[in-house]
Amino acid sequence: MAQHFLLSAASRTLKLKDIYKAGESAAYAKFCELRWPENDGEAVCPRCGCCEAYSITTRRKFKCKACHHQFSVTSGTIFASRKMEFTDLLASICIIANAAKGVSAIQLSRAVGCQYKTAFVLAHKIREALTQETTGATVANDVEIDGCHIGGHIRPANHVENRVDRRLAKNQTGKRRVVIALRERGGRTLTHITRHESQGVQFAMDRLESTARLNADEAAHWDALESFFPINRINHSEAYSFGEACTNQVESYFSRLRRMIGGQHHHVSARYLNQYAAHTAWLEDHRHDSNGALASRIVRNAMTSPVSRAWKGYWQRAAA
Ligand SMILES: [Zn+2]
Repeated sequence: MAQHFLLSAASRTLKLKDIYKAGESAAYAKFCELRWPENDGEAVCPRCGCCEAYSITTRRKFKCKACHHQFSVTSGTIFASRKMEFTDLLASICIIANAAKGVSAIQLSRAVGCQYKTAFVLAHKIREALTQETTGATVANDVEIDGCHIGGHIRPANHVENRVDRRLAKNQTGKRRVVIALRERGGRTLTHITRHESQGVQFAMDRLESTARLNADEAAHWDALESFFPINRINHSEAYSFGEACTNQVESYFSRLRRMIGGQHHHVSARYLNQYAAHTAWLEDHRHDSNGALASRIVRNAMTSPVSRAWKGYWQRAAA
């Protein structure tokens, strides 16, 4: 059997040791390089697009020669107003890139020695940056569709006479959600959160190219897609794959998501489930990239993502 990719040397191209050994200026240079690749890492004014700027090296700021606007490498990006050192920021990104099933904010905060809140917001900003890779994207060719129920667990009461029928709507918490995933074989995974799996039909209609060929299980709500796309159905009580028909790749995605939530985060709120689902999709789609390539991809995504409306000043707002 072939060696698993994550065991191969090709999967390891970045080390925490090297980030800290190279120091703050090298980490800073990495951010400049990925923010302004078109100008060889030299500053480009975010206001007027001028490619020449005075460098205020002591403060790691720039002043545009044309419009005199002052800016830094993270101005206007999702990392705007960062206080963390560039080495710690890059190390955090490396730790997140290394975690095939994600990493909890507590664990990240202990590794880099920052507050839990800092790690929580940082990880969420990174997830938001990653989702831009598939914002509005569509999938084509062979696509698998399925839904996975997450959350809303009801703990059975201690004494059997106090236990309730957890299948009844009146006994449920209302926190249960369904992650709908559309996974193109050899392509991208798109995700969407709904309350009922049947609502995934609309998501599929919005995000499937007209040329797509679908694979789905026997759930009746997918019947609605049959008049629009050729569709292979697989009855899981008979087989997991039959000829071309299977939903194994989308099930692999759900497996990674369940392990991420169960093993790392333990609990995720329905409010942020879309971010965890998108993070898992990103990990699944880039599972054959080295950790160095993944870290660079995260930095590049962050440098091209605007200031986050959801996460900027999150704790200040939450406390108010
Ligand atoms: Zn300017």
